Amino acid sequence: MSETKEKAIKGGEFIIRDTKPENIFIPEEWNEEQKMIASMCDDFIEKEVVPHVERIDKMEEGLMQSVLDKAGELGMLGMSVPEDLGGMGVDFKTSLLATEKLGKGYSFSVAYGAHTGIGTLPLLYYGNEEQKKKYIPKLATGEWKAAYCLTEPSSGSDANSGKTKAELSDDGKTYTLNGQKMWITNGGFANFFTVFAKIGDDKNLSAFLVEADSEGISLNPEEKKMGIKGSSTRQVFFNNVKVPAENLLSERGNGFKIALNILNIGRIKLAAGVLGGAKDAITHTIKYANEREQFGRPISKYGAIRYKIAEQVIRAYVVESATYRAGQNIDDAIESYMEDGLSKAEATLKGIEEFAPECAILKVAGSECLDYVVDEAVQVYGGMGYSAEAPVERAYRDARINRIFEGTNEINRMLTVDMVLKRAMKGELDLMGPAQKVAGELMSIPDMGDLPEGTFANEHKVLKGFKKTILMVAGSAVQKLMETLAKEQEVLMNIADLSIMTYMAESVLLRVEKLISKKGEEACEHEIAIVKTYFYDTADKINKAGKDAINSFAEGDEAKMMLMGLKRFTKTDSFNPKEARQKIATRVIESNKYDF
Ligand SMILES: Cc1cc2nc3c(=O)[nH]c(=O)nc-3n(C[C@H](O)[C@H](O)[C@H](O)COP(=O)(O)OP(=O)(O)OC[C@H]3O[C@@H](n4cnc5c(N)ncnc54)[C@H](O)[C@@H]3O)c2cc1C
Repeated sequence: MSETKEKAIKGGEFIIRDTKPENIFIPEEWNEEQKMIASMCDDFIEKEVVPHVERIDKMEEGLMQSVLDKAGELGMLGMSVPEDLGGMGVDFKTSLLATEKLGKGYSFSVAYGAHTGIGTLPLLYYGNEEQKKKYIPKLATGEWKAAYCLTEPSSGSDANSGKTKAELSDDGKTYTLNGQKMWITNGGFANFFTVFAKIGDDKNLSAFLVEADSEGISLNPEEKKMGIKGSSTRQVFFNNVKVPAENLLSERGNGFKIALNILNIGRIKLAAGVLGGAKDAITHTIKYANEREQFGRPISKYGAIRYKIAEQVIRAYVVESATYRAGQNIDDAIESYMEDGLSKAEATLKGIEEFAPECAILKVAGSECLDYVVDEAVQVYGGMGYSAEAPVERAYRDARINRIFEGTNEINRMLTVDMVLKRAMKGELDLMGPAQKVAGELMSIPDMGDLPEGTFANEHKVLKGFKKTILMVAGSAVQKLMETLAKEQEVLMNIADLSIMTYMAESVLLRVEKLISKKGEEACEHEIAIVKTYFYDTADKINKAGKDAINSFAEGDEAKMMLMGLKRFTKTDSFNPKEARQKIATRVIESNKYDF
């Protein structure tokens, strides 16, 4: 068995299986080539995007396209595209790094994400050789721009209910498309659409590659939006649009599967992108807090402000740890599937599908981290934060969409639980065995297994407790509610939150443990403070989510027993959060930037 296979962890398995720090990737391990790509993306944003954000947001004619053209010239639009199709062919986590760096480009980031992600990837991963040869090189260079047409006025979250129709001609040579799509990013200038429509009375969608200059395609004017004002968002109408039969992507009825799998990729990429935006907003916050004086001192000297800055840093650092951990897991899974003989495209799809629960977790955690960060950024700016002249005002407005697109956070929370439970039902994940063990433990002396000693002894104990909480709550909810669990959304949201927080907590702990093994404890005092503060806070939040769930479906002695277990599972050592946050804030305030 290869090294890759030995360490492979399955998607969703973090709930029942521990991971060793040496088996995760941490951002401190980027190699020289990856750092060069990152710095190229940083330079690009600094020179080609930031000076023009005002003009981009005013939708100056042709400006967004020309910025995308420049990105294309530098190879940035073809990062995930194999070299033989005109791209750079970087691995998955490197594409996440580029997405992070380009994520601080406001509306540009959305146009970039839509073009390189949902715009290009359906064809890259599901297209046949002729289709790919025809279109991918043009998309990789930016000669053509792409958009993804799934949503319709009456079908958003329920994407498979779309009404757009495709009828095959009697000679089998052309499909005729009729329907209306809504909220289409890059719609105003895209040359190439991936359009989802139903053939005849099919239950499931099919996907079609459609050239934008085809007769019968028309657009509504630009939507007037709260944020990402420079990103083109249009309604697209298809009125008897003829599409050659060979432009059916994959097979008839496979469109919904394509849409879901591409959204999985979009979700983890969204986490990387919002991380870039969050780090940038944190740096703005720190700089402003250092410059602005009130009552004779810079506001960065005040504890209330230092708390906010430390908390911004903690949340971004945690999301970063989890994003690249999952990115490496996906790369490992891709490699493993390729060893089994799958093509790169097939292996990539399967690798990402494997970690779909983590992708949904990251989408929610990333977008909510960004919203916290930009909200506090505006607060630290005070009145200036409310001024359109402040960079954080735009960041605040632009951030909000991330909780809505790529599947709303409610849908992603439900998916997180649904996907894991389905895998358990299919026997792919042994959740029930460990859940029964935890249930048995409620009536006996707790078994905490072998716990490491040292700096993180408390956090390891608590992490085991977090995982037991998920198993106790989810296991008992499944038993009690059976099929009706799917309808008990409040409980599902609680279980999703337990899973999200646990994945985040484990990821940041593993990262810092690995870092300590490389640099020693003394050099990691701030990172240790981040882990400890995150665990301290999260234990209470896990307790609350667990309590809400238990009280929603259990009562009497049964509820009492679970609540007692919960208390035990979320008990943490005493800790001084003020001191830890002060330490974190001092470091970044002295550096005058986010410097982790
Ligand atoms: C700026 C922007 C750009 C976009 N770009 C694209 C694009 O390029 N291509 C594309 O195809 N689409 C795009 N979208 C569409 C986007 O993906 C959808 O808006 C999103 O999926 C939500 O669908 P909806 O707006 O119809 O909301 P709804 O589905 O109507 O949801 C409304 C609310 O109800 C909740 N909800 C829905 N169903 C359930 C349920 N079963 N249980 C509990 N709660 C539920 C949702 O979470 C949400 O809070 C974009 C949207 C915007 C605003």
